[in-house]
Order: sequence, then C-alpha cells, then structure tokens
Amino acid sequence: MHHSRDNCTSPDLQTVADAQARIQAAIQPIQDTQVLPLKHCLSRILAEDIAARFDLPRERNSSMDGYALAFADLQKDCRFRVVGTAWAGKPFLGSLQSGECVRIFTGAVLPAKTDTVIIQEQVTQSSDVIQFHGNTQRGDNVRLPGEEIERGSVALTAGTELTPAEIGLLASLGIVSVNVYRQIRVAFFSTGDELRGLTEPLQSGQLYDSNRYTLHALLEQTGAIPIDLGVVPDDPEQLRETLLSAASASDLIISTGGASVGDADFTQPVTLSIGRLHFWKLAIKPGKPLVFGDIQDTPFFGLPGNPVSVMVTFLILVRPALSKRMGKQSCQPLQIEVPITHSIRRTPGRLEYQRGVLSLSDHQLQVTPLTAQGSHILNSMVRANCLIVIPACCQFVSAGDLVFVLPLKNEYD
Ligand code: AMP
Ligand code: MG
Repeated sequence: MHHSRDNCTSPDLQTVADAQARIQAAIQPIQDTQVLPLKHCLSRILAEDIAARFDLPRERNSSMDGYALAFADLQKDCRFRVVGTAWAGKPFLGSLQSGECVRIFTGAVLPAKTDTVIIQEQVTQSSDVIQFHGNTQRGDNVRLPGEEIERGSVALTAGTELTPAEIGLLASLGIVSVNVYRQIRVAFFSTGDELRGLTEPLQSGQLYDSNRYTLHALLEQTGAIPIDLGVVPDDPEQLRETLLSAASASDLIISTGGASVGDADFTQPVTLSIGRLHFWKLAIKPGKPLVFGDIQDTPFFGLPGNPVSVMVTFLILVRPALSKRMGKQSCQPLQIEVPITHSIRRTPGRLEYQRGVLSLSDHQLQVTPLTAQGSHILNSMVRANCLIVIPACCQFVSAGDLVFVLPLKNEYD
C-alpha cells in the first residue's frame, strides 16, 4: 500500500478517529432501566452485574457415558465389578468398595469415593464385570463444581448485550428476570424537496425517500425504537421545528440530507442556531458533510443524503453512539486483514470505506472491490458483504496487498 505524506487530511476536516472520540465523549448512557422476563431480553443490555448464586456446575458430574471409579483402584487392577447405575437426574446413592464401579451417564452426579470416569468405548463387559483397556488420568471425564462459574463471582457484567448465549447462561443460573436498560427511542427524518413517499406519483426530478426505510431497518437491527418523523422540505423553519419536537420525543435524533454547503442545505446552520455543533465536516468517504451536535441536550446526527453515505456513516459513527446511549460496554467492530484482488488508485485525504466482496479462493479469504463505488449507488451495498478500509493517506493499493475489511454480513457465496 502506497502512502502519501504522514498528515494528508486537510485541517478543516475532522479525522474519523477524532470524530469517534468526540462522539464517545459527548454521548451518555440513558439511566432508565426495567425488569424483564428472560425470554424478552434478546438484544437488551444488562443494567446490573449478575453474580452466580451457586457453583456452575453445582456438583461433580460425568461428561461422558462410561463407568465411574476410584483412580487409585485402577492402578491395582483394571477389572471392576459394576454395582449400580448413576443416571442424569437420578444419582447412585450406595457406597462403593474397592474394586467396584458404577455405570454412569453424561450429566450424572459422580458417586462418593469415585473421581474418574472411563468411557464405555474402552471397556469390555462380561456379566457384571468390566475390564478397561486404555489410558486414563485421575479426574478424566469429570466436570468439577464451579469450573464454569464459581459461586459468588460475576457471571455477566452490566453493559453486556444479551445474545442467545447470555440468555442461556442466565437460565442455567436460575435467573428468571433481569434488570436491563429500556430501549432507546431514536427520532429520524429525511430532508429534501425532491423526496416523495412510496405511494406518490413521481414527477421529473423527484425520487422515493429510501433513506427512511434504510434507517428504520438499521435502527430496528440495533435494538432501538425507531420514531419516523417523515420528510421535511428544504426549509430552515420546518427543519428547526422538526428538530425541536424530535429532541423532546427521543434519546437521539438522525436526519439525512441537507448537511452539505449547498443553498438548500440547512442542517448545519439550524443546528448552530438552536443547539450545539460538535463537528461538521469529516475526513471520511463517503459521508464528508456530517453534522454532529445536540439539540436541547439530545444528541443529533445530521447525515448526508446519499444512500450509501447514510449506511456507511451509520455503521462507522452512529451505531457506536447508539450502543453507548443504550448502556452497552464499548467494543470494537470486527476487522480482518485480507489480500485484495484488484488495485485501487485514489486521491488521499479521507479515510475511505469501499464496498467489497469477500470470497474464498483456495481456502483463503480475499476481497474484491466493487466497480460501482458512487455514494448514490445503494445497489453496491446490496452486493457488498464488507467494507474495505482504505487509510486516509493511502494513494495506491496494489493487487495482492493486505487491506482491512469490516464484514457486513455473516454469510457469503
Ligand atoms: P443532499 O445531502 O441533501 O445534498 O442529498 C444528496 C443526494 O442524496 C441527492 O441526490 C438527494 O436526492 C439524495 N437523497 C437525499 N435524501 C434522500 C433520501 N431520503 N432517499 C434517497 N435519496 C436521497
Ligand atoms: Mg438535499
């Protein structure tokens, strides 16, 4: 990868890293929490640490089907008399003499005086006597109390997103309901005189408002409650009114369009007049004109209008802000380094996110940049399964160079 000067970003543009830090500093988690039954907690954020009230597993138990015995006996003789059975849920309660063992199944509690389970595949049986052919160590195939989580220790910390694994873990600790943050409400709207609703006829120069549908979906995917405020014309007075009512109705506001410097772009001046502006122009491609501020203490993102810019800036800047607002612990998105199949020549100065396709070639992942990279071409987001990260100062990427990509989808062809 060929880089230009060290500092290639023009001083009137905020770098993406600075913007991300600024956003993290400005956004505060909401305070309201609610107690929800476990089944309704998917994608919610834990608002309390959860401590285990008992060891997990609670007792010593077998991880295999086989025979439980005392390892010390096995060192004397590899033949044992089977004197009973330990089932999952039905322990063996008798007591064992030397040279005796218990038939045991996965999950069954280990009988007293036994410390090892030999697996049934390594045993031959005739009537009630088994003979072991194999190697084993003391404690083999035995799950120990607290080996997963010790009683009293924190099983999950506040700020954890509850995915199916966390929900199952809580259930295994007997926790039926948990304290989670309430869902955040995100007000969003589109701006632009050219935008029409999907059932309206289109005149020349008009187009359907797609951003609101994209944003609605992105917000639902993030676990927020979307509040759709419709389309606002390119009119500063109406923009001001919409922003003020959005501020009182939501935990965060997102608009699209009108964030640039054209004569019909009012997002930045209106933010200055009724709120606070944290930054405006970013060294990012796509998505350079981007307002971040607050309106009456409600964080506000004024995203650009182009549909790809909306998606990219949402993923890179808005989603981490939503996460923090929702009470989630900060975490980094997965980035992987893979070779690129084609060269890229470009003008340095902005951190660029190109749409790419990750694929396997000879069992190795590689990425191919899509040819149509225009920020108006939403179909590139449909075809892409990752974003290729091109550092701000990079001028030229050769085929075969390693690049970082941000996966967008969990599957590929
Ligand atoms: P703007 O940022 O307002 O200058 O808009 C940039 C481009 O994005 C223009 O071509 C707009 O027509 C288009 N655009 C703006 N808002 C939307 C929207 N909600 N849906 C689809 N395209 C839009
Ligand atoms: Mg516009």
